[in-house]
Amino acid sequence: MVAETPLLCKICGANAVSGRGNFLCEIHFCEMVEKKVRAHIEDQNLILNNEHIAVALSGGKDSSVLLYILAKILPEFEGVKLTAITVDEGIPNYREETLTYAQELATFLNIEHRIVSFRENFGAPLPDLLKKRNVSACTLCGVLRRKILEQETFSMDVPKLATGHSLDDEAETAMMNILTANIDAIINTASPNSGKESLRIKPLSVLNEHEIALYGILKGIFHEFPECPYAGPSLRAEVRQIFLDLETKYPKITG
Ligand code: SF4
Repeated sequence: MVAETPLLCKICGANAVSGRGNFLCEIHFCEMVEKKVRAHIEDQNLILNNEHIAVALSGGKDSSVLLYILAKILPEFEGVKLTAITVDEGIPNYREETLTYAQELATFLNIEHRIVSFRENFGAPLPDLLKKRNVSACTLCGVLRRKILEQETFSMDVPKLATGHSLDDEAETAMMNILTANIDAIINTASPNSGKESLRIKPLSVLNEHEIALYGILKGIFHEFPECPYAGPSLRAEVRQIFLDLETKYPKITG
């Protein structure tokens, strides 16, 4: 039997933790991730000195990595303040764990944290709101969550809301917009800081899901949480699967 040769970091020669043709050790992989996010923020002027930035923190891996990286590079910006916002939709056996984790992470990073709930803002949790409407859970959840985040950032007089959208999310959204012939959204995707979307910033949109997950694991902030009981078949899930199949067949398309 031939012993497998360990993959080595292309920068320092230590054991590599990342593959896909970009072999890096833990230290250099994390540095590369933070460097990509920092460069994206600077190139696109996503964060300016003395700004107050709200960060949508669900407690899942993407938003946790987002808050962690922003907190880490924050001292490089003069007078910038972060406030994390977590939306509690009131979904039983799902939201409780992520809420607790979001609170723990914000406390650990010393970031102000606000929790806003469907119950406070719309009079009832998501399961009860669904009883009165003939609409899918995810559609209603998405609309109300966006509304509550907008209300909260408006009430705090905060100019920008950072979300944990990844490169994969952006690619899926672009493909869904093409498949549904959503011309307005296609134009807005090409110019994400225009019009109504000007308040949304996506610092992680230069990282793919693999990079975000690995960074979260290496920093000890990746947690497995129960899946939302309403999660089910969707166009996004199907598009994601198509991309995964393509990535397996053509590894270069992951960038
Ligand atoms: S899966 Fe649907 S209902 Fe559950 S949190 Fe996500 S958008 Fe909301």
